[in-house]
Amino acid sequence: MTDYMIELRNVTKRYGSIVANDHINLSIRRGELMTLLGPSGCGKTTALRCITGHNIPDEGRVFIDGQDMTEVPTHKRELGMVFQNFALFPHMTVFENVEFPLMIRGLSKAERRERVMEALRLIRMEGYEKHYPRQISGGQQQRVGLARALVYHPKVLLLDEPLSNLDAKLREEMRFEIRDLIDRLGITAVYVTHDQAEALALSDRVAVMHAGRIEQVGTPDEIYDSPQSRFVADFIGLSDFIEGKVTAVDTNQGRATIRVDDLEVVIPAGPGMTLGRNVLLFIRPNNVELWPASHQGGINVFPGVVSKMTYLGDRADYRIKMGEGLILRVQTDGKVRFEEGENVKIHLPVNFCRTIVE
Ligand code: ATP
Repeated sequence: MTDYMIELRNVTKRYGSIVANDHINLSIRRGELMTLLGPSGCGKTTALRCITGHNIPDEGRVFIDGQDMTEVPTHKRELGMVFQNFALFPHMTVFENVEFPLMIRGLSKAERRERVMEALRLIRMEGYEKHYPRQISGGQQQRVGLARALVYHPKVLLLDEPLSNLDAKLREEMRFEIRDLIDRLGITAVYVTHDQAEALALSDRVAVMHAGRIEQVGTPDEIYDSPQSRFVADFIGLSDFIEGKVTAVDTNQGRATIRVDDLEVVIPAGPGMTLGRNVLLFIRPNNVELWPASHQGGINVFPGVVSKMTYLGDRADYRIKMGEGLILRVQTDGKVRFEEGENVKIHLPVNFCRTIVE
């Protein structure tokens, strides 16, 4: 038995001249919730459809549970699916909706009843069997959709933007419900979204996609704390980007220095950082510190001027102008406030500076 429930090997799918999936390799472990995350049009749904069998790749192979399924029709793949524009059958009760996939598969009446009740218990909707979809809330409808996908015990659950029709608060609640449900079942799941907060909250691992390719695969922590490309750093959370040239490398201390305009910025030394190389430094705005102008200097402490301050309730969001036109975004807890036009000191803690050698 292989460790992986799903494997995409070198999968390429074209639509005319558009390469929607460009040599994708992705291995999804048993019991793992993997999210495909990326902006609209990056190829998430295309990749999911290669797993479901709605797409046959032009190149590459798709393995499910160790078997080559590339050309096997969807209904023989034992998958449960919940889609963005999915709808319950309005003329059928909750019970009948969940029962439907079992009818198609020809299960006996007693067996159907047992499975449907088990699925309704799973989504905490016992007692709603006789309700019609219009008589239950949007979140409940979505849960019934999940029950319908799970009722025939699929090997894998595939979810394509399943929460996009719900309001923001319900979306947030449903994230936890879905995570909890998947934990209880121990099922392998693939989740498609363009919402990074949803991806970080839900997933065991995230595959970040961009222009038909997978840019990075990692745990939510890895994706957020150690993005491997500018695209990932920019797409996940907020980042300040600073471009500089290496002017010193101190391997003993594990540090390097880059010149940015007329500033010298100390960064952790990394592979490929030789003198003169271009380095892209990025740091999260909530890891930058802001101090009064009277604060003493130190490593990576630079003067700046507040060009904009926006109070966001739980945070204060600043644009700080530094040196020759460099503007950094800084977010603080807002306990100490600085005014627009005020001189400040800005601190870029070395251990929060991330780099890509360009
Ligand atoms: P979204 O988040 O908007 O759903 P996505 O990341 O799921 O986007 P895909 O739907 O996989 O992206 O589309 C990838 C690319 O392939 C896009 O450029 C899209 O226009 C194109 N595409 C997708 N389906 C087809 C199709 N049936 N015919 C032609 N082009 C298509």
